[in-house]
Amino acid sequence: MADCRCLTPAFDYRDYDSHSLGVDTTDGRFGEATVLTCKICGATWLNYFLENEGFERSARWYRGLVTAEQLTGLTPGQVPTLLAGLAWYFYGGSYFGTTGRRGSGPLWLDRNDPPPTAHLSALSNAADSHRESASSTQPLPYDTVGFDDAGVWYTNSASLTHRLAWSKLRTVEIVITNHRLFDDFYWFLHGDGTILKIPQTAEGSAALLARLQQLPGFDNEAVISACASTANQRYRCWQASG
Ligand SMILES: [Zn+2]
Repeated sequence: MADCRCLTPAFDYRDYDSHSLGVDTTDGRFGEATVLTCKICGATWLNYFLENEGFERSARWYRGLVTAEQLTGLTPGQVPTLLAGLAWYFYGGSYFGTTGRRGSGPLWLDRNDPPPTAHLSALSNAADSHRESASSTQPLPYDTVGFDDAGVWYTNSASLTHRLAWSKLRTVEIVITNHRLFDDFYWFLHGDGTILKIPQTAEGSAALLARLQQLPGFDNEAVISACASTANQRYRCWQASG
């Protein structure tokens, strides 16, 4: 594994099998915890991905080498602490302006924290007109959602793809997160042990809504309520029967 490309940034998501651990909702930060297994050398990476949809360059990820023991019983909320305790990890993303560097110590987690150099002008603009600023945010290159007859997938701006088969879909929720500057709108598609967290700003989300509306018993009123919401709220739109 010494020469494996999972140790040399930039990383390619196609090199990994990914397994979602779920979403860390501590302090409303919605960090996505994922176990990535390198298809080449078998190394196990614990990945933590965070972004603030209100900012164009807010995507940040951390990944550290872990053992099976460290993953046993691990909850998403424990991931930042585990990574911070490792001898080193990789970090990267648009927030840091790097495709991957080695680091150690506590993770930068506050989703409202401007990164060291960027976003200062975005912050002052946003304070004036947060809705307008949020809706003008361009989707990042890989921030896309798609579906076919078998299932739905979401590729986030760290190029990680999460998939969920329609047959495993249990619940559809809209989550409006509330923080200082923006109200964000996410689809949460819950499956068996998997959650796809899809921002409304993702490319393809309009088509996703049209597809979800075909689910028997889909609650359009919940969507309308969510669109009018500015608070920290969850709206259940659909639940599998039985
Ligand atoms: Zn590897």
